[in-house]
Amino acid sequence: SPSLGPQPIRRLEQSVINRIAAGEIIHRPASALKELIENSLDAGSTSIRVTVKDGGMKLLQIQDNGSGIRRDDIPILAERFTTSKLATFSDLSRLTTYGFRGEALASISYVAHMTVVTKTKADSCAWKAYYGDGALVPTKAGTSADPKPCAGNDGTMITVENLFYNTPTRLSALRSSSEEYGRILDVVTKYAIHNPHVSFTCRKAGSSAPDVSTPSGSTTAQAIRLLYGQSIAKELLHMTASSHSPENDEGGEEIPEKSSWDAEAHFTNANYQAKKLVFLLFINHRLVESTKIRKAVEAVYTGILPKGASPFVYVSLNIDPRSVDVNVHPTKREVHFLNDDEIIERICDVLQEKLVGQSQSRVFEYQV
Ligand code: ADP
Ligand code: MG
Repeated sequence: SPSLGPQPIRRLEQSVINRIAAGEIIHRPASALKELIENSLDAGSTSIRVTVKDGGMKLLQIQDNGSGIRRDDIPILAERFTTSKLATFSDLSRLTTYGFRGEALASISYVAHMTVVTKTKADSCAWKAYYGDGALVPTKAGTSADPKPCAGNDGTMITVENLFYNTPTRLSALRSSSEEYGRILDVVTKYAIHNPHVSFTCRKAGSSAPDVSTPSGSTTAQAIRLLYGQSIAKELLHMTASSHSPENDEGGEEIPEKSSWDAEAHFTNANYQAKKLVFLLFINHRLVESTKIRKAVEAVYTGILPKGASPFVYVSLNIDPRSVDVNVHPTKREVHFLNDDEIIERICDVLQEKLVGQSQSRVFEYQV
């Protein structure tokens, strides 16, 4: 109806505010899983097992062997802004953990049913707790919501059921369960490459054979071979780069560095020619996307690969946390950092050198 005149402004209910905020962080099953994997890694796990039903929409379960959660912390675990990783605002610039603002578990509890079973080494038994809308909830009406003692291994198991049951628009925006499962496998695969010391598995519920399975204590190159195959592994090159120029290392004077960084990459040579680019980017151990870095890397390869052919590239970049603004996007995917042009240029220069050097030595071999 046209022109009703000004409508009254109402204050949203807190539960509505929280549900909207949760949707900003948890877009789909794979984004919930990313947060859960990061929590498990923050807890020092060496084993991470993921089980999925219906593309993660019915069930998403992650079991780790990390530190566990203290009994006293269980009641506030899923409240917004409860964290063990950040105490003051200035801590934000010193972060070495993935999480930092205590929003992930809260968000999940606002858009799904969440169960936590956790045990620390010091505890003699595990504790089980159910969460809804940021708080402990009873399993049955009229019973207590208190955590219950139960059997369990050291570490934490988090079960997320019926994701987006209360946000039908979000649910209908999801793709088929096989497509959502594909995204889940992608997240697990990428974290497994970046954390080859950790054993990862990912399986569909009820299936005995996992779709991703890595041993603990392997190397990045071994993990790439296992997960992306021999055709990539046999054409891999490796590079490192950093802000430390040799002169600085020798100099006796302490020059305060405006931003120190180091990078490592595993990338295919000119022999490997795929139809689609595979690009894995971790900044300060967080899986992120950066169009700027991806384009720069692609530009290096345009001089090396035939038109239409693409490489496999894995880049891990560590920057002084003080020069990264991790707080820029709710999903923490888009990371901004100082001197990005300079850092990208340096990485691409080394990449180019290695790729050109490699193809020249090959040409040279053929000529001899
Ligand atoms: P954040 O990671 O930003 O602190 P989360 O909501 O993801 O916030 O988690 C809240 C807190 O719950 C964490 O700070 C941590 O103390 C605890 N926690 C979450 N998952 C785990 C886990 N798998 N193992 C041990 N502690 C965990
Ligand atoms: Mg977290």
